[in-house]
Amino acid sequence: MFSLKNKVAVITGGGSGIGKAIALLFAQQGATIHLVELNTEAADQVIAEANSSGGKGQVHAADVSNQQAVSNVFNQIGHIDILVNNAGIAHVGNVENTTEADFERVYNVNVKGAYNCLFAAIPLMKAQGGGVILNIASIASHVGITDRFAYSMSKGAIYAMSLSVARDYIDHHIRCNSISPARVHTPFVDGFISRNYPGKEAEIFEKLSKSQPIGRMAEPSEIAALALYLCSDEAGFITGCDYPIDGGFIKL
Ligand code: NAD
Repeated sequence: MFSLKNKVAVITGGGSGIGKAIALLFAQQGATIHLVELNTEAADQVIAEANSSGGKGQVHAADVSNQQAVSNVFNQIGHIDILVNNAGIAHVGNVENTTEADFERVYNVNVKGAYNCLFAAIPLMKAQGGGVILNIASIASHVGITDRFAYSMSKGAIYAMSLSVARDYIDHHIRCNSISPARVHTPFVDGFISRNYPGKEAEIFEKLSKSQPIGRMAEPSEIAALALYLCSDEAGFITGCDYPIDGGFIKL
């Protein structure tokens, strides 16, 4: 079940957190993984870890917000069965605390970065006769998160982008879905805590964990398990769907 044997998977931001967990699981299930990363040192370690258990893959140094760089990488890969748009950055602030530079930085990575990857991958997928796209959205795509104006804007866009792509390319056998996690314990969250609450890391970690109805953060491996299913042939009937994986955050 859920084999990715002979599949070529591109994972943006595959050097850390959720992207790393997805990359390692996909490699374990037989995919050749291509990590598009700014942090190539971290991505190299992921490939080394995948190789040590029989997986294979490659690191591509690129900033997803740079269209030319993304096109060069994707054309070099040449054949892409699975694209996981995962690279993303956060910003804390309401409208008044979000400068134009903050807004553009979050937009360029989270929204334009995903668009750049779609723009480069879809022609390849059409020419191959199909493919699968998975976008990592957020609970911020669904509910108002306090002090996350730019981030929520970007994740709302990811949610709508997924629906648009699913509809436009259904006849080309390209499926597109998204996953909306609540807090996942990754360097993204650890960095947020240490930057904003120095000296109170353990206390804030506990507080954030308890703020989720289920009482803890998700582990990256829990997001990767759903990603594997959605990108596998077994999920062949699923497109245009968003899957919250949120410990009850949205509905409870
Ligand atoms: P992370 O910070 O641990 O990893 C993100 C990776 O993306 C890093 O390795 C980073 O180098 C890479 N990256 C950042 N900008 C890039 C760029 N411009 N080009 C290429 N690579 C780039 O983050 P994470 O927690 O694993 O989050 C991954 C995704 O999941 C993000 O889109 C995030 O918004 C989303 N998400 C995270 C959480 C959470 O609580 N961690 C919750 C919901 C959604």
